[in-house]
Amino acid sequence: PQFLLEVNHLKKYYEIPQGMFKEKIVVRAVDDISFSIKKGETFALVGESGCGKSTTGRTILRLTEPTDGEVRFDGEDIRSLSYEKMRLLRSRMQMVFQDPYASLNPKKTIREILMEPLRVHNKYEKKERMDKIRKILEIVGLSDHHLDRYPHEFSGGQRQRIGIARAVVLQPDFIIADEPVSALDVSVQSQVINLMLELQKEFGLTYLFISHDLSVIRHMTDRMAVMYLGKIIEVGNTDDVFENPKHPYTQALISAIPANHPRESKDRIVLEGDVPSPANPPSGCAFHPRCPAAMEICSRRVPEETDFGSGHTAKCHLYQMNEKREEKDEHAVI
Ligand code: SF4
Ligand code: MG
Repeated sequence: PQFLLEVNHLKKYYEIPQGMFKEKIVVRAVDDISFSIKKGETFALVGESGCGKSTTGRTILRLTEPTDGEVRFDGEDIRSLSYEKMRLLRSRMQMVFQDPYASLNPKKTIREILMEPLRVHNKYEKKERMDKIRKILEIVGLSDHHLDRYPHEFSGGQRQRIGIARAVVLQPDFIIADEPVSALDVSVQSQVINLMLELQKEFGLTYLFISHDLSVIRHMTDRMAVMYLGKIIEVGNTDDVFENPKHPYTQALISAIPANHPRESKDRIVLEGDVPSPANPPSGCAFHPRCPAAMEICSRRVPEETDFGSGHTAKCHLYQMNEKREEKDEHAVI
């Protein structure tokens, strides 16, 4: 297939008890999203925290079961797979986490941490395994004499290198990286990103890169999807979206990037308020209470998708001229 990963109408709803009577209310953490990732590409999921990015990543790997929708990996519908088949597939789909310290067992040495996935997935002959581990360590910028040390003996950047080594040692095809550099010092971030780009070339990896950091996204990714309250509101080639953002939310995010050039700083759009609760999303376009361009129709109707060409789409009434004309006609009839 042309796409390594296809996500169709994916939903993840939670029920949480609320209020005095502990009534169950439904939280639509991921609310009907679709996107596809080509082999070898880096695809970004962008948005403020709480918009459903991490839940999307975890649902794709079936670390949490989706409520509805389809996830196809290399053509296979992963929701229909048996436990055993899913386990096999999981060695091809790995995850790198935001906090490398929390995700590395503090009681295990680096040797044990890297050996474990090879053992669990029964990968390589036993006598080959140490060679593979040594090679991976070298590739991520560590070495032999780190093998018998524990995670706490390393810096944050080194720990993330170990987390990456653990993901890559299985030679996966696909890696979901959830905020992989946001816990690191800025000075270390670019080193880790460059490492990920090198690994991508070396092993032909495909990435789903989850981040709220637009400057990292711009540097690192080929295509991007912007999420707001569990929905994708804009998708496109990363360059196209940065050069010509269509959705007012995307425009606000991009305008808020700390400007490297004074020329870029003058048009900053400041958003009012926080992201509303996904348990009680606003009607119509969920962004309307914060949108500087909101119109009357926005609180009443969910905007359809507009296609701007080259795979660039956005959901916003500003571009739904036909629909607005229809509305006028309706009024004319009345
Ligand atoms: Fe703003 Fe309306 Fe577009 Fe939503 S649909 S982003 S409220 S203009
Ligand atoms: Mg998150």
